[in-house]
Amino acid sequence: MASLNGRTALVTGGSRGIGAAIALRLAQEGADVALTYVRDEQGAREVAQKIESAGRRGIALRADAADPAAVTAVVGRAADELGRLDILVNNAGIGVLGPVEDLTLADIDRVLAVNVRAVFLASQAAAGRMERGGRIIPIGSCMAQRVPGPGGTLYSTSKAALTGLTRALARELGGRGITVNLVHPGPIDTDLNPADGPYAASQSGLTALGRFGTADEVASVVAFLAGDDAAYMTGSEVVVDGGHAA
Ligand code: NDP
Repeated sequence: MASLNGRTALVTGGSRGIGAAIALRLAQEGADVALTYVRDEQGAREVAQKIESAGRRGIALRADAADPAAVTAVVGRAADELGRLDILVNNAGIGVLGPVEDLTLADIDRVLAVNVRAVFLASQAAAGRMERGGRIIPIGSCMAQRVPGPGGTLYSTSKAALTGLTRALARELGGRGITVNLVHPGPIDTDLNPADGPYAASQSGLTALGRFGTADEVASVVAFLAGDDAAYMTGSEVVVDGGHAA
């Protein structure tokens, strides 16, 4: 029997990259899955269609993580349409890299809105809908733990904030049997960070394994955290980074 049979999940930013791989993996494990997108409607619909083809319910919902009302509303909509909400994966994220003196107030507000505020609001809304056994899994970054060079101040700030959120929320929700665990991917081959991009070689060189990871290699860890086998894990940070932090 698949480990997530009968469960429902919401994956933010599920139209491509790591989020799409997570949505598909959770469905393969038996979950019905809603996923959000902001621009790539076709990609989101294709992921939802693949989920349906696998015999689960797949729903693509547009919700801009920078819009607080949309974030809260989409959690309620996913729970209503799927009948309940067991798993929230806060995956949608953006990066603005560059010298700290060049970052604008708009850059700072947008990155913190998508990478931090949306995670907070979605988790808050999801906690109100979850029952015992609920799972909240934010996606952080290896840049929250080890910053190998200049230019990452804003992105690292946003991802490091999720450590505090994860630990404190784990304390708040533990009594209700809901766990909160943060996953830090290392360099993963996606549109955000292509394995043939200009900074790829240096990133590979910083890992112990000497290569980029795949979105599926992150998704498998998220699926584990979402299942019963991870029931005694909460408030933890799990690195899936090829040894970037080693
Ligand atoms: P991609 O850029 O490939 O995909 C991002 C996804 O998030 C897309 O589905 C996109 O939707 C969605 N998204 C972006 N902005 C918003 C928004 N404002 N509202 C709703 N959805 C949004 O990124 P990755 O798959 O590489 O990254 C996924 C997560 O993993 C991010 O949080 C990232 O910071 C983190 N991460 C990635 C690493 C990497 O090397 N790739 C390393 C460490 C962490 P749409 O298609 O509609 O634009």
